[in-house]
Amino acid sequence: MSTAPLDDLKDLAARIRSGERRALAKAITLVESGAAEDRGLGEALLTELLPDTGRALRLGLSGAPGVGKSTFIESFGTYLTGQGIKVAVLAIDPSSVRSGGSILGDKTRMEKLSRNPNAFIRPSPSGGTLGGVARRTREVMLLTEAAGYDLVLVETVGVGQSEIAVADMVDMFCLLLAPAGGDDLQGIKRGIMELADLIIINKADGDLLKPARVAAANFTGALGLIQPKFRAWTSQVMMASALEGTGIEEVWERANAFRAALAETGEAETLRAGQAKAWLWSEIREGLVDALMSEKTLKKALKKAEKAVAEGEDLPPAAARALLAGFMGPSKP
Ligand code: GDP
Repeated sequence: MSTAPLDDLKDLAARIRSGERRALAKAITLVESGAAEDRGLGEALLTELLPDTGRALRLGLSGAPGVGKSTFIESFGTYLTGQGIKVAVLAIDPSSVRSGGSILGDKTRMEKLSRNPNAFIRPSPSGGTLGGVARRTREVMLLTEAAGYDLVLVETVGVGQSEIAVADMVDMFCLLLAPAGGDDLQGIKRGIMELADLIIINKADGDLLKPARVAAANFTGALGLIQPKFRAWTSQVMMASALEGTGIEEVWERANAFRAALAETGEAETLRAGQAKAWLWSEIREGLVDALMSEKTLKKALKKAEKAVAEGEDLPPAAARALLAGFMGPSKP
């Protein structure tokens, strides 16, 4: 950005608000940039746009590779845009963290939706830590909200910590499963089921309809043993076929029912307030660690401490306290 960055930012913000796609893409590039100067500008832009954010429904969607996520999003997104609802699809791809590879990044996914003027699809930011990818996704979510998208769908692959990262930034978390033999409950970790507000058994069509029914009954039973996340909402199980388009409208109905129920009890607001606070704390933690790591005089001490704890010569809490004392000065009595 040139001579008058603040004027440029105000102009960019106005273009984003008016729904200009190129402006949105430019803003996303800014917040995804690793350069310190861009980071500052990105934050200033987000601050400027903050009053225009928060109105969208934020929906998480997770599932193992092959359960039908892209087919589902294509079908769901096409249905919604047909209703005049603007849809943004963001991805968090754990395989893009560090390696820059991708389970989700492939351009041919959601081909039809990606050409739809009322849909915006953004692949996962790559590189860095999962925390860094999650932060950039949160920021992109705010940008798409300011750009007028009504639904932000955050997709992730059902492996490891990425589901928790997504559940921490959305209103409603959906788990997409596909029937596979009799042992459907196996391999789905209890922790993931506890996150799910809605379990969608996909591929409930043709020969898979019967096993889908069995899976739905099993998951309904299993959910009964789990402590509900909200007063207003008990997790539900439903069937769908992304391929045939059945159950798609019903997912939207349930999402709206969820939203209305949580708004009524005030839990929607509490949820977002909690997420914002958790984000603040994760930024504080990351900022402190970054500051610590960039302190030249501490580099040697850090290496020494790592070696000492690895070799069992020092206790990690004691070593950490000594390092922090060197960084901040000894704590006051
Ligand atoms: P993703 O890896 O989770 O994104 O899964 P895809 O959307 O790429 O789907 C994986 C495979 O499952 C593809 O061959 C799809 O055609 C198929 N598939 C997706 N949804 C359905 C469905 O509702 N019914 C059936 N029978 N197949 C489906």
